[in-house]
Amino acid sequence: MNKADLPDQIRQLCGVLNALNRRLAAEHDLQPVHLDVLRYLARCNRYSNTPAAISQYLQTTKGTVSQSINLLERNGFVVKLADANDRRVVRLKLLNKGTRLLKALDENNVVEQAADRLDSSSRNSFQKTVAELLRAAQQINEHRPFGQCHTCRFFLRPSKGKYQCGVTGESLSEADSELICVEHEYSHS
Ligand code: SF4
Repeated sequence: MNKADLPDQIRQLCGVLNALNRRLAAEHDLQPVHLDVLRYLARCNRYSNTPAAISQYLQTTKGTVSQSINLLERNGFVVKLADANDRRVVRLKLLNKGTRLLKALDENNVVEQAADRLDSSSRNSFQKTVAELLRAAQQINEHRPFGQCHTCRFFLRPSKGKYQCGVTGESLSEADSELICVEHEYSHS
C-alpha cells in the first residue's frame, strides 16, 4: 500500500460523510452544522455544553455556533439554561426532539453500516488506529482532544465503582465516564 494513499483515502471518507450529512440536514430543513451541534450535545458532559466549547470542538466561529444554537432553540431541538453558579454562562440541553432526530439519523449511519461489514477484530483495530491518528493530528494542530472522560489524566477512581473528576472534585457516574469533555487531557500530552 502506498503511503501517499492515506490522506487521499481519508479525504474520500470525509467526502462521503460530508455528503451524507448535507443530505440528512437538507431532509430536515437544517444545515450540516446544526446536526454537528446536536451530535456534540448528545456526547458531551456537563462541563462542556457551552457555545464556546462547541465552537472549539467544531473548529468554527462563535458567530456560526451562536446562529446555529438560536435556530435549534427556535425549532425546539435544544434549550438554553443559565449556569447554576455563573448566570453569565449559557448551558445547552438537548431536548427530546433533538434526541429523536439523532436517533432517526443513526438509522442512516453509513459508517456504522460499513463498519458492520468488517469482522470484529478488523473493526477494533480500525477504531484504535483512527483514534490514534485523530489524537496525533490534534496534537500536531494543537487542538483540544475532547476525549472520553475515562481516558483523562484527571479521572479518578477513589474506590471500586466510584468515579471523580480531579479538576472539579465532583463525583462522576459510569455514564459520565463515557462522555467527552472540553477539559480532557491525556496523561502524556
Ligand atoms: S476527569 Fe477530565 S474529562 Fe473527566 S470531567 Fe474531569 S476534566 Fe473532564
